[in-house]
Amino acid sequence: MKGLNIVNGKFQKDGVFVPVEFGNKEQMAALENTEKRHTSFKNGLELNYTTEVNVIYSTVFKCLCGSSIHLNSEDDTEDDPSCLLGIEKCYSCNQSYQVYKDGFKLMVRLA
Ligand SMILES: [Zn+2]
Repeated sequence: MKGLNIVNGKFQKDGVFVPVEFGNKEQMAALENTEKRHTSFKNGLELNYTTEVNVIYSTVFKCLCGSSIHLNSEDDTEDDPSCLLGIEKCYSCNQSYQVYKDGFKLMVRLA
């Protein structure tokens, strides 16, 4: 991932941890952005999923640390995105997410 992210509470730029600098605009923007995304994850964020002819569901969302979390169901007997539900962990920062359904919507929130 490109740019500045916050991984396990530390600033990480292009994969390298960088120290906190007061007044650093890029860090402040990253902090604000992470804060906003944290709030939306707390409230539940709707996921857009795609499905193909042979009924394979897949979706992707971005972890708070900036890593992409991909969900796939390769079971072609599934006819509902419920096959994507469950707890997912980010491989980069270990944050857990719960994928759940709200009516017909597929949602994700902090687990
Ligand atoms: Zn992460």
